Amino acid sequence: MSRDSTVSSLSMVKCQCGIVAKIFTAFTPTNAGRRFYKCANPNGYKCSYWKWVDDPLHPRVENLIHNLKKENDYLHRENKSLETKMADLEKYLASEIEEKCERLNEEVVIDNEDVVIDKFKTKVDQIWIVIVMLWCCFAAFITFWVMK
Ligand SMILES: [Zn+2]
Repeated sequence: MSRDSTVSSLSMVKCQCGIVAKIFTAFTPTNAGRRFYKCANPNGYKCSYWKWVDDPLHPRVENLIHNLKKENDYLHRENKSLETKMADLEKYLASEIEEKCERLNEEVVIDNEDVVIDKFKTKVDQIWIVIVMLWCCFAAFITFWVMK
């Protein structure tokens, strides 16, 4: 059962409480789609007023409405389920992307450290070449001076 919000001109029927009765729609298999009046007071304060708005529908129409309602309910549940799965998937992807970005940043930092270390090694090698060349010059000078 659900409240029918589309009907307004029919809803001037009053219940035993003296207030305008609400119109609902039945979705039971035998009366699917058939509207009825019921007391508009909240539960616990309702009177027992109850009356059909519509004449009985053709069984085929009742069956069609009942099946369409079932299918609609199923699709609503399926939609909710898919929305939940999609939200979970979005959360998972966001965390994966964040993790990958952090890893990439760490690798860039490591790469930068490697570049600094390589440059330092090159400088050390150049200094050694200069030292060896100076040593050779010194040795040649000493040898030349001793031979003299
Ligand atoms: Zn009432």
